[in-house]
Amino acid sequence: MDFRLTEEQDALVQTAREFTRKDIIPKAGHLDETGEFPRDILKRAWETGLMNIEIPEAYGGLGGSCLDNCLVQEEVSFGCSGINTSMAANSLGATPLLVAGTDDQKKQYLTRLTSELMFCAYCCSEPDAGSDVAGMRTRVTRHGDDYVLNGQKRWITNGGVAGFYTVFATFDPAMKHKGIACFVVDASNPGVKAGRKENKMGQRASNTTDVIFEDCKIPKTALVGTEDGGFKVAMKTFDRSRPWIAATAAGVIRRSLEESRAYALERKTFGVPIAQHQAIQFMLAEMAIAYESTRLLTHKAAWQVDQGDLSAITSAYAKAYGADAAMRCATDAVQIFGGYGYTKEYPVEKLMRDAKLLQIYEGTSQIQRVVIARNVLGR
Ligand SMILES: Cc1cc2nc3c(=O)[nH]c(=O)nc-3n(C[C@H](O)[C@H](O)[C@H](O)COP(=O)(O)OP(=O)(O)OC[C@H]3O[C@@H](n4cnc5c(N)ncnc54)[C@H](O)[C@@H]3O)c2cc1C
Repeated sequence: MDFRLTEEQDALVQTAREFTRKDIIPKAGHLDETGEFPRDILKRAWETGLMNIEIPEAYGGLGGSCLDNCLVQEEVSFGCSGINTSMAANSLGATPLLVAGTDDQKKQYLTRLTSELMFCAYCCSEPDAGSDVAGMRTRVTRHGDDYVLNGQKRWITNGGVAGFYTVFATFDPAMKHKGIACFVVDASNPGVKAGRKENKMGQRASNTTDVIFEDCKIPKTALVGTEDGGFKVAMKTFDRSRPWIAATAAGVIRRSLEESRAYALERKTFGVPIAQHQAIQFMLAEMAIAYESTRLLTHKAAWQVDQGDLSAITSAYAKAYGADAAMRCATDAVQIFGGYGYTKEYPVEKLMRDAKLLQIYEGTSQIQRVVIARNVLGR
């Protein structure tokens, strides 16, 4: 077993680290405060080759692996997981096309992401159906050679800035999993519009909106995969994307540890740096363990995806463990900073607010445990 990265991967990490240091860290606080969408930063990320990593070379992408994508996402998340979420949402929106798209669809849509700065979004969740994907109500009907979409999607990352959407809709809610199909829809279609922008607790540099479909007519060629295959496309997409969330968690944990270590060596109580108190040392040690464990699980899950093994379970371990560990470590970072940690003078309170989302999106921590328990019980 060889845990070393390749020379190309080392170079990719260095590029992403430098980009994060120069372009993200100085701006992250302002973006968090204002909730502005970081288009300029994302433009530079796109120019630097840090976006759309897994798009094959045939469509103008890097042809990188899931592991390559995870390496970049850890670095970017060290600077700001909200900016990382904006970048990752492009990968998420493109993945249904990678999983089940035709060559024509890939040429038409993936090439747009690589030839210009364009965003896309993955539209699965709804006001009344998040964890319960099969409970979605957005309807698709057949009209001659076309399909028509009607319904409302919620919590869509890049919803207000996307050039196209991959959208899940049902022919009949009573058919549950079997009624769901996936479509690719241009944002310029007159039947689709972005709704209100969420005013979020954390990851405020990411754009989260409703996406609403009203008699949205799309051609037959917009179907991604088969009419009864959408649920599988959604699940396969999550299997490929959950390692990214674990990588994001690794970035948040590493930042929590670095900020805490520096502060603990400087801040004195009772005449000594707080790093000399065992209670503080143990929190730092727990963060170091969490970082190492999250990273190992992430890399194993990504490696499995890269082997074509989408058995879900390692991705679920990585996502569940990483998200919970990031929340714990960011909370401990605030604790180590004491009262100062509770103010915006230091970056740790942002880490804590940002980390919370990792336990919610792309399958909550509870849903990961549902998947894991099902596997443990052999169902
Ligand atoms: C900022 C943000 C960005 C997002 N981006 C996207 C996106 O780009 N695209 C997209 O499609 N979605 C996106 N989501 C949606 C996200 O995936 C859902 O919020 C998430 O899946 C949870 O769904 P819900 O909010 O409806 O919660 P619910 O499903 O209503 O869950 C509520 C609570 O019940 C628990 N629960 C539910 N079912 C079970 C069960 N069977 N067993 C045990 N506990 C259970 C949950 O864990 C949770 O604690 C985003 C969400 C947020 C907040």
